[in-house]
Amino acid sequence: MIRIKRRAVSVLLLVALLMGGLCLYIARFVSSGEKWASSVVNRAVFSDGMLATGTLTDRNGVVLAAWREGRVFADDERLRRASMHAVGDMSGGVGTGALTSFRSRLIGYDFINGIYSREGTGGEVALTLDSRLQTAAYDALAGRRGCVIVSDWLTGDIVCMVSSPTFDPENPPADVENDPRYEGVYINRAISAAYIPGSVFKLVTAAAAIENVGDIYERVFECEGSAIIGGEAVTCTERHGSLTFEDALAVSCNVTFAKLSLELGADTLARYAESLGLTRRHSIDGISTARGRFDEAEDGSADLGWSGVGQYNDTVCPAAMLRLVSAIANGGGAPRLRLTERGAPGKFMPAASERVMDKETARRLALMMSYNVERTYGAGNFPNLELYAKSGTAEVGGGEQPHAWFTGFITNEGHPFAFTVVVENGGSGASAAGAVANAVLQAALDE
Ligand SMILES: [Zn+2]
Repeated sequence: MIRIKRRAVSVLLLVALLMGGLCLYIARFVSSGEKWASSVVNRAVFSDGMLATGTLTDRNGVVLAAWREGRVFADDERLRRASMHAVGDMSGGVGTGALTSFRSRLIGYDFINGIYSREGTGGEVALTLDSRLQTAAYDALAGRRGCVIVSDWLTGDIVCMVSSPTFDPENPPADVENDPRYEGVYINRAISAAYIPGSVFKLVTAAAAIENVGDIYERVFECEGSAIIGGEAVTCTERHGSLTFEDALAVSCNVTFAKLSLELGADTLARYAESLGLTRRHSIDGISTARGRFDEAEDGSADLGWSGVGQYNDTVCPAAMLRLVSAIANGGGAPRLRLTERGAPGKFMPAASERVMDKETARRLALMMSYNVERTYGAGNFPNLELYAKSGTAEVGGGEQPHAWFTGFITNEGHPFAFTVVVENGGSGASAAGAVANAVLQAALDE
């Protein structure tokens, strides 16, 4: 009797072990199945380390990449060049490309069916990009280095993302690694680079001034073209004379903004750069953007003055700047940027957003950005656009032309678009980068 009891206990123990093992396996399958299926050693979906399945389209179903006994990209060569960074290349050099980042969705993995798909073509992923805007941005950059990123400021959908230099992913150049024309070609500058921002950073200093300098709108600033700040000369491009706060942003007066920076202090500016999201990384459907930089310079120093006008050690990622101007357009809420469609087609899925500034601050910044266009950039250069913008002409030193920035948004009916354009060594922000932004926004309106 005792022996039978012992045997029963052993059998029960064995069963318990088996059940435990099975549970562990199921748990691991649930948590890691997707990773196993999308591992490059899975020969069903990979060929020579390359994803061999799935279709990637733009928001209108235009094919950007597919697998047809080999990797194919868009039919149109300009679209292939324009979208190389967003999509990815043949060699996987662009680590942030959709072919790499959305691998498991392209494989079509799901928990019930694994990688099985009825047609055997894998999954289909629709990006939020619009092919027409992709080629418009590519044409407008005209081979210059830099980037264009445009999003819907209500939903966070990125409708255009182009980085230059680029190449045709179907015919990659022979010596990408050593040819200086292709230096840094695998970097998607819109999300993975951080540039000296120059005067677009004055939006941050302005936000801090609106909320911390009580009489900011009553003040009159004097600009003699240069001023000694912290023992060094801070200079403007010209003598701006007597200015209101709005005028100072519109003419981008360095003297005024450097003085304001000293008054605000380094810790306040650092706090705003952080809370407005310029120094942090952001996730675009799991793709991480580059971190920006704001170093707190010594109180009362020229460096502190320059840090508040977007020079000194400041750097900003174009995507983070896009998020900031989207928040201004949205009354203070920054939408979560995204690159893929979510939810059922036709169903409006409100994007999660994060409040980064007060509604009143956003309203005042928007008014000032509109005044910038009226007073300085010239509404005639941006026909039919209800435009709010800030330019930046970022000194890069070394005798090189400054980087040109232009960022802002439009409120045209049906086209709630925010944008950031950088043309490296492009010269004047408003004319070089402004013209690129205008070309893309005109294409967007022309639907
Ligand atoms: Zn000035």
